[in-house]
Amino acid sequence: MSVTQNETIFGGSFLLAPIGSQPQYTPEDMSDDTKAIGEAARDYMQGEVVPKDAEIEKLQPELSRELLQKAGELGLLSIEIPEEYDGMDLDKKTTLVVLEEMGKQASFSVSYGAHTGIGTLPIVYFGTPEQKAKYLPKLASGEWLAAYALTEPGAGSDAMNSKTTAVLDGDTWVLNGTKMWITNAGFADVFVVFAKVDGKKFSAFIVEKTDAGFSTGAEEHKLGIKGSSTRALVLDNVRLPKDRLLGEIGRGHRIAFGILTIGRFKLGAGCTGTAKVVLEYTLKYTAERQQFGKNINTFGLIQKYLADIGTRIFVGEAMNYRTIGYINDGMAAIHWDEEKAAQRKMDIMDEFAMEASMSKVWGSEALFFTADDAVQCFGGYGFSSEYPPEKIYRDSRINRIFEGTNEINRMIIAGSLFKKANNQSIPVSKETANAPKAGDFSGPLGEAKCAVELCKRQCGYVAAVALEAQGQKLIENQEASARIADMLTEIYAMESAVVRADKMTAATHRWAELARDYATVYVNETWNKVLANARMLLSEVLEGEALTKGLGDLQAFSGFIPSSSSKIRSRITAQLIEKGIYPIEQY
Ligand SMILES: Cc1cc2nc3c(=O)[nH]c(=O)nc-3n(C[C@H](O)[C@H](O)[C@H](O)COP(=O)(O)OP(=O)(O)OC[C@H]3O[C@@H](n4cnc5c(N)ncnc54)[C@H](O)[C@@H]3O)c2cc1C
Repeated sequence: MSVTQNETIFGGSFLLAPIGSQPQYTPEDMSDDTKAIGEAARDYMQGEVVPKDAEIEKLQPELSRELLQKAGELGLLSIEIPEEYDGMDLDKKTTLVVLEEMGKQASFSVSYGAHTGIGTLPIVYFGTPEQKAKYLPKLASGEWLAAYALTEPGAGSDAMNSKTTAVLDGDTWVLNGTKMWITNAGFADVFVVFAKVDGKKFSAFIVEKTDAGFSTGAEEHKLGIKGSSTRALVLDNVRLPKDRLLGEIGRGHRIAFGILTIGRFKLGAGCTGTAKVVLEYTLKYTAERQQFGKNINTFGLIQKYLADIGTRIFVGEAMNYRTIGYINDGMAAIHWDEEKAAQRKMDIMDEFAMEASMSKVWGSEALFFTADDAVQCFGGYGFSSEYPPEKIYRDSRINRIFEGTNEINRMIIAGSLFKKANNQSIPVSKETANAPKAGDFSGPLGEAKCAVELCKRQCGYVAAVALEAQGQKLIENQEASARIADMLTEIYAMESAVVRADKMTAATHRWAELARDYATVYVNETWNKVLANARMLLSEVLEGEALTKGLGDLQAFSGFIPSSSSKIRSRITAQLIEKGIYPIEQY
């Protein structure tokens, strides 16, 4: 299941492939080895991290170090490090499970992600053998901790506008500049820093905290994730040995953006982990709180919030596992001792950049809606810092900003489709004949499958119309492009959920009925969002009779009859209330 193993699976190919025709990795496919690591991560979080929540939030660099080092002792920092450098070199599927567990304490999860992901992976993928031998064993054990420094005061989303410079002076690089918002800066030992060689060629360097001329600013006072360290870096004539250049001069963008893409699907996983905790305390509170002489979890609108949180977890997991299935199998097929292994692994990542961005955007927004629903379920107490929803409401906000803002990610999603439509690898079509009908699909999810297929055809239709009207300049119309990105993302979300539920049904999984409810209610509530975006997109690019005709053509794709969402949600809520947790756990 990879670009190398199966040419029909590539980034964005879900739009072309009939529903269920591509193999889809789901949480239920998890191997026993992955479950064992997931359990170890869960035990570590429950035993060491979650109980220290209040202390972590006071931001004590020594505590962050200590917790990360303990994670290192358990092997949790070395999952993606090759064995040759004291790592475990486990697959990306395992990373996903661990990230989900880490999401159970948001600040720690950010510190962990910055160290193991954006801080360490640039050296794993782009380091020389000497750099790997020097840094990776220490980063694997937690003896040294890492950070990644791309952002600058004037260069955030537009990271290539970096003003930090690197000049070769004899055998030493001299770096000057300021970096902004650097996670782990308060205690990290090793920093991957991006700078322009001679002010022109964007490149990466490894800076150590003891390098002369290197210093960090004060801790930022943030809205959330207050227990994670975030500081500016000051590079004042920092002198580095020549061998601290990471990768090639002028190829820093490959490192900077390739590593961020990896971070995106992980962020989606962290968000689902966090949502499980939110669901648990919201179920508990709503089961105890009484109004009008009844537990508030008996009220239909409170039940809707609970069911929606559970549904988002099911859908989010389905998307994240599907994305990692594509990426993992492609990457795992390339062994580190093969020629250009790192480059080829990054090529796989690039191929699925659209899917990684969709997991990031969808996951971060789903968690924010979940946090909002939790605040609402707690009423006034949700607004108080003495109850848990207030914190997650603040903590979850960052996910829409870092690892590329959701605006930038929406442009990546849409831009990928436009490029592939242009080179015909994803041909989009204005064809309206032979739209799928419910009778074309069998089984209990037949209606939902039909809805997904109708949405795909509809998305292809409006994308073809919009591209015909505006060509590749369509990307400059950001509102229109974002509508396409949202259509693609929701199609991917619906399809991932339906296929997961279908697989569980085929396997007579004990939660198959609940899975079908999650998938069906999600499709019920989402297909018309896709339709609304399709209509509004046409009004962005057409007018007059052409617009009237286009809107009329969309009728061909509107033949989905939703079932009663409230009945389905009642069943979902009954299960959630009975179990008191998100019930479809794998270990
Ligand atoms: C807590 C925290 C931790 C962080 N950790 C790190 C880290 O470890 N390392 C690191 O390098 N950086 C880190 N960052 C920085 C983060 O990645 C940036 O904040 C982010 O990329 C946005 O950059 P900016 O803040 O300069 O906002 P800007 O780029 O100025 O964006 C402002 C707004 O304009 C929008 N915008 C910008 N360009 C476009 C465009 N072309 N089209 C549409 N909209 C656009 C953005 O989406 C946003 O809504 C962190 C930030 C925070 C807050």
